Amino acid sequence: MIEKREFYINGEWVAPAQARDHLVIDPSTEEPFAVISLGSAADTDAAVAAARAALPGWMATPPAERIALLEKLLEIYKSRGEDLAQAMSAEMGAPIDMARSQQVGAGSWHLKNFIRAAKDFAFERPLGDHAPNDRIIYEAVGVAALITPWNWPMNQITLKVGAAAVAGCTMVLKPSEESPLDAMIFAEMMHDAGFPPGVFNLVNGDGAGVGTQLSGHPDVDMVSFTGSTRAGRLISINAAETLKKVHLELGGKGANVIFEDADEKAVKRGVLHMMNNTGQSCNAPSRMLVQRGIYDQAVETAAAVANSVKVGNAHEEGRHIGPVVNATQWQKIQDLIQTGIDEGARLVAGGTGRPEGLNKGYFVRPTVFADVTNDMTIAREEIFGPVLCIIPFDSEEEAIEIANDTPYGLTNYVQTGDAARANRMARALRSGMVEMNGQPRAAGSPFGGMKQSGNGREGGIFGIEDFLEIKAVSGWTPE
Ligand code: NAD
Repeated sequence: MIEKREFYINGEWVAPAQARDHLVIDPSTEEPFAVISLGSAADTDAAVAAARAALPGWMATPPAERIALLEKLLEIYKSRGEDLAQAMSAEMGAPIDMARSQQVGAGSWHLKNFIRAAKDFAFERPLGDHAPNDRIIYEAVGVAALITPWNWPMNQITLKVGAAAVAGCTMVLKPSEESPLDAMIFAEMMHDAGFPPGVFNLVNGDGAGVGTQLSGHPDVDMVSFTGSTRAGRLISINAAETLKKVHLELGGKGANVIFEDADEKAVKRGVLHMMNNTGQSCNAPSRMLVQRGIYDQAVETAAAVANSVKVGNAHEEGRHIGPVVNATQWQKIQDLIQTGIDEGARLVAGGTGRPEGLNKGYFVRPTVFADVTNDMTIAREEIFGPVLCIIPFDSEEEAIEIANDTPYGLTNYVQTGDAARANRMARALRSGMVEMNGQPRAAGSPFGGMKQSGNGREGGIFGIEDFLEIKAVSGWTPE
C-alpha cells in the first residue's frame, strides 16, 4: 500500500491537521492500492495563508524569471513521465501506453505552449498611438484555487498551474480524490524546479470539504475549476458570497456531424475518438449525426469498429481501452445504457454488463446506439463512458438544429468534403470549439466552452489571460 498522507504547503510536506484517511482504488482490480488524507478547514486555511503570503513576492518577480522556472519544470516533467503514467494508470485506469503518450504528453505540450506564449506576451503595453499617456498593465488575479477532475488529470493540472504561474498568481491545488497521486508527483516537480515556498500548494480533499472551503474562502481571489456541470454550479453559488472570479470548464455532449460527402474514414475516426480514454472526455464526440444517404452504412461501420475495440487491464501494454474510473460511474453508465434500450434506441454494439472474460474491474462494453432521437436521455446527458449515440439527419439546417439543441457547448465536429459548408457549420455551431475533418487544434488554441460547458479558456495565451486582471492607467509618463 502506497502511503501519501501529507500535503504540500509553503514549500514542504506537512501532516494533515486531522487524520482522515482515504483509500485510492485501482479501477482495473477494484482493490485499494494507496492511502491519502482528506484535508480539513485548518489545512485549507494554512495553504491559502501560504499562497497569500507568497503573492506580493511572486507578482513582483519579473515574468522572465517566472517563465524560466516553468522551463525548469518542463525539463523535470519530461524526466518523470514514467512515474506519472504509472500513477494515472493505477488511479484512473488509463491503459499504460495511452497514459504514457496521451495523458503524460498532454502536460508537456501545455507547459511548452505556455512558455512560448508567455515569452511573446507584453504584460505592460500602451493603450494605442492615440493615447500616449495611457497604459495597460496585466497583473495577476491573486490567490487562485485550482480544482481538477480525474479524467485527464495531468492535462488539467498543467493547464491551470502553468497559466497561473506565469501570470504571477499563487495557488492552492485540490486535485480529484480519485487521482491524487499524479498530482503529488507534480508537487514534487514544482518543488524541485525551485518555485518559491507558498507559490504552489497542494491539499487533497473532496468536493464537500476542501473544494467547498476553497470556493468560499475570503482569501481566495479566483477559482479555476474543471469538472462536472453539477459541481460547477455549486462552486459558482458558493463563490458568489465573496464575489471571486470563477473560471469553469465543465461537461459536454458534442455533436459529430457527418455529411454524405465526408471522407471514408470519418465514421471510424468518430467511433475511436468516442472510445478513447474509455469515453471519459468532456469533448467526446458522443452524438454522431449522420446524413440519411450514408446512415445505414455508417451504423454498420460504427458497430463493427466498436466491436473491434479491445477492453483490458490498464496495466497491460498495447492498444485497448481501460476500465471507467469507479463503481459509481460504472453503475451510472449501466443505468444509462438500460435507459437507452428502454426509451427505444436501437442497440447495435455492446450493451449492459462487463465485456466477456472480465469479471472484476469497472469495465464497460463499447456500446453504440442507432436511431437515437435528440430528446432521448442518452442524447441529452453526458454519459462519460464508451457509449455512442447515432442520430440521422437530412439537411444542413436540421443538423445545426440538432447539434445546437443541448445545454452544453464545448466541442462540435464536422466531417464534409465541401469547404464552404464546413466553414458555414463552424460559424453556426454554438460551442467553444469546432474541429473539422479530423484536424486537431493547433498549439496555443484556446480550450473551453459556451452555455453550460463553462466560461473559461485554457491553453496558450488565452489560458494565461484568464489568470490576469487588466489595469488601465492614465497619466503614465512614457519611459
Ligand atoms: P466532479 O465535478 O465530480 O469533480 C471535479 C473536481 O471537483 C474534483 O476535484 C472534486 O473533488 C471537486 N468537487 C466536486 N464537488 C465540488 C464542490 N461542490 N465544490 C468544490 N469542488 C468540488 O467531476 P469529475 O467526475 O471529477 O470529472 C468529470 C467531469 O469533468 C465531467 O463532467 C467532464 O465533462 C468534466 N470535464 C470537463 C473538462 C473541460 O475542460 N470542460 C475537462 C475534463 C473534464
